Amino acid sequence: MDDGGVAWVERAQRYGDRTALVAEEGAYRYRDLLAASASAARALLAGAPDLCETRVAFLTPPGFDYAVAQWGVWRAGGIAVPLCTLHPAPELEYVVSDAQAGIVVAHPAYAGALQPIAARRGARFLTTEELRSAPAGELPRVDPARRAMILYTSGTTSKPKGVVTTHRCIEAQVTTLVHAWEWRAEDRTLHVLPLHHIHGIINILCCGLWAGAQIETMRKFDATAVWERFARGDLTLFMAVPTVYAKLVAAWRGASEETRARWSAGCRRMRLMVSGSAALPVQTLEEWREISGHVLLERYGMTEIGMALSNPLHGRRLPGHVGQPLPGVEARLVDEQNRPVPEGQPGEIQVRGPSVFQEYWNRPEATAKSFTDGWFRTGDVAVISEGAWRILGRSSVDIIKTGGYKVSALEIEETLREHPAIQECAVVGLPDPEWGERVCAAVVLRPGATLDAAALRAWAKERLAAYKAPTRALFLRELPRNAMGKVTKPEIVALFKETP
Ligand code: AMP
Repeated sequence: MDDGGVAWVERAQRYGDRTALVAEEGAYRYRDLLAASASAARALLAGAPDLCETRVAFLTPPGFDYAVAQWGVWRAGGIAVPLCTLHPAPELEYVVSDAQAGIVVAHPAYAGALQPIAARRGARFLTTEELRSAPAGELPRVDPARRAMILYTSGTTSKPKGVVTTHRCIEAQVTTLVHAWEWRAEDRTLHVLPLHHIHGIINILCCGLWAGAQIETMRKFDATAVWERFARGDLTLFMAVPTVYAKLVAAWRGASEETRARWSAGCRRMRLMVSGSAALPVQTLEEWREISGHVLLERYGMTEIGMALSNPLHGRRLPGHVGQPLPGVEARLVDEQNRPVPEGQPGEIQVRGPSVFQEYWNRPEATAKSFTDGWFRTGDVAVISEGAWRILGRSSVDIIKTGGYKVSALEIEETLREHPAIQECAVVGLPDPEWGERVCAAVVLRPGATLDAAALRAWAKERLAAYKAPTRALFLRELPRNAMGKVTKPEIVALFKETP
């Protein structure tokens, strides 16, 4: 079979009868994925020779249909625009319209939401069932320099932007991780993350399928079900965001002695457990070490750059740090004048290399502003300490300028989490005429615990410089989070502003 230039197709031909995906609806081999994605490509082409980078927005539950749609779009020469199953109709419509999707594909479960959007936007609409039975026909040859995917970023300050990557760029993002973390065909992983975001798409799905591994998907995250799956003892690796690990810790603590022992034993048999997409609290790392025997491998990355920094697969993983630049990734820290900072000084992370995205879709100015001399400006601040990179946070929301000092919200959160009454917290800066910004903490207390703002400040002042101790506290039942489980700090700022 001709691979049409799509690298995944060429590799899948080698894996033929191996299981690629295990989903609620069944198990599928690489051979099945090749046949179904060829049919999907032909259905999308509808007789045309090449989709010529038509944007195809698609929404399916995690599983076989998702991979078929993704590969089908690629094989037809289109640009894959995965939608988020958790987004309400206006957000779905925003992406369909911003990406100027020419085709919209939906699993029947989502057809009711997407068909009217497609009609309003003048896009052709197809269900995933219609992708399955296209007549035989030729597929185009797709050059790796062509655009392959647009992922919409969460957009902390502005409307989400479409991050465009080419086939070559995706391949670089994937092969970097496949080599660094030694993905192989014998690997089996459980996939619990959303499939509209880089973590679930690139780090798990695309890496796994590149390596010929087996990926099991779960429609809805359920901590007990995940632990029971771990307990079967045949998974080799697992990747998730810090909130997933926190939920797994909570479920484990709530289980009986016998269940805990069974769950932990299954987990111990894995070869690798990874955390990323948000800062991993050292406390969660330590709890996970105690429960599972694994020191989570923490890495740092971003939709625009793929994964850039990683703790080592073999060798010491430093808690609270994200390791070193991955092979093929150039990273540097610079000051506000764009000059490299001396070791030990904080600076903005800038990244360069084949994994970096091509452009923001239809936003040439935003693209131009985000690069300097070929380096992508991440907007994240880090420092190199003990020989490893430590993330201090996003300069726009996590670096608080108070009384002439620049303080890291992530560092303050790390300290506050040591308070016995605090379950979780998020620190933000609020505008203040005297101080520039004031350090404020949103706090979720442990069940039954009590604490007030004055006591928290007094406690914090014993452990942190006075200017880092929160001057205001807001006690919440839970922290606002996005579909990836990341705390949405602008919402916390808004909550403070609403509260006198
Ligand atoms: P996204 O593009 O949604 O993956 O978000 C990327 C952002 O998540 C980065 O710019 C960082 O601010 C944050 N991030 C990712 N990994 C880490 C990490 N290990 N520690 C702290 N922040 C992280």
